[in-house]
Amino acid sequence: MNILLIGSGGRESAFAWKLTQSPQCEKLFIAPGNAGTGQFGTNVDLKVSDFEGIKAFVLANGINLVLVGPEEPLVKGIHDFFLDDEQLKSIPVIGPQREAAQLEGSKDFSKQFMQRHNIPTAASRTFTRDTLQDGLTYLATQGLPIVLKADGLAAGKGVLICLTLQEAQQELVEMLTEAKFGEASSKVVVEQFLQGIELSVFVLTDGNSYKILPEAKDYKRVGEGDTGLNTGGMGSVSPVPFADAAFMQKVEERIVIPTVEGLKEEGIPYKGFIFIGLMNCEGEPYTIEYNCRMGDPETESVLPRIESDLVDLLMGVAEGNLIEKQFSISPKIAATVVCVAGGYPGEYLKDKVISGLDNVRGSIAFHAGTGMQGDDVITTGGRVLAITSLQDDLFTALQQATLDASRIYYDGKYFRKDIGFDLL
Ligand code: AMP
Repeated sequence: MNILLIGSGGRESAFAWKLTQSPQCEKLFIAPGNAGTGQFGTNVDLKVSDFEGIKAFVLANGINLVLVGPEEPLVKGIHDFFLDDEQLKSIPVIGPQREAAQLEGSKDFSKQFMQRHNIPTAASRTFTRDTLQDGLTYLATQGLPIVLKADGLAAGKGVLICLTLQEAQQELVEMLTEAKFGEASSKVVVEQFLQGIELSVFVLTDGNSYKILPEAKDYKRVGEGDTGLNTGGMGSVSPVPFADAAFMQKVEERIVIPTVEGLKEEGIPYKGFIFIGLMNCEGEPYTIEYNCRMGDPETESVLPRIESDLVDLLMGVAEGNLIEKQFSISPKIAATVVCVAGGYPGEYLKDKVISGLDNVRGSIAFHAGTGMQGDDVITTGGRVLAITSLQDDLFTALQQATLDASRIYYDGKYFRKDIGFDLL
């Protein structure tokens, strides 16, 4: 099979690594990819939302399967674009259509979906500019802290946890009347604050049956001890020790099944990954959010634990026979440490030459923000590399990933040395 993978981050590097382990993968193309994905296949200079360019490439290269990594093309309707095109409609796309991608693209849509299907989540109400006064009054009746969420995609920045009523009311005004997050905050979900420990659960579905992939915990803050600014993710660990069998059974019964069944009942097709952001509140799972794709850097810890053939699983999604596919998960522990550019998540250094990649011995170095300059691998993004180690126990995995992260060099390199140590 000829496969086109869309995206350019660490997640796509992990996908490329896993897809090319399948005997069914003949040629892999990655659009646009990075210096690391180029080791597994051919990078193609196309933007992830250049649907016409993707169409021309797919037709010219006999692509049999398209796997979409990031949310942007899904929310913009890449899957619908394929289905609406006579020449493309028989080529399977892994990733939901535009309507289902609203589970990520609109917080209001996803909250309403959860409420319709009795999926445990924080109590909430949604306000617009027209109902701002009701929103301000509602805030005054709520406990603190309180969470304000821009409805639309806001590059991971649209969630505010407010500690005082004054702050919450001021933010609500700014979001609704001053477009603090642009169009994304023309609607705001006001949500009860949940106290607990977060984790992410990943589901692969063909719209009927599903497989629950390994769960993961990610580390969002830039600083050690979970301090400082939020980032795209500084590391991840899978499995998550506190997600024991009893907890995961609750997740499956109360969240995964009602989600897949709810989509089916509402006639919303879904072929792809569902990322469920969860809060474990004293052993009870609550849904914080859905994403319509895999997480990054969670994918880098999740995929190494999947023993089954990923192409086979994706074909099960495409053909609607996922239920028949063999699926096994390694009991080993994966830890991922992300090396970022100096300054990230603020203004950061770029175009720095990376050396020492050959020094990585007990881990896989998944590339994220990297590119080629002549024969040199250089930094091109904030998150540069995701170093994953798969070991028999958590301590060894963490130690090895951290050691290998320290063996790579570029100006301004930074990584957290405490990823996962809270779980030991
Ligand atoms: P979201 O984009 O909805 O995942 O929110 C981003 C982050 O904000 C989450 O990963 C949580 O850390 C935090 N968060 C969101 N909603 C809540 C909530 N209801 N209670 C506590 N923290 C939350």
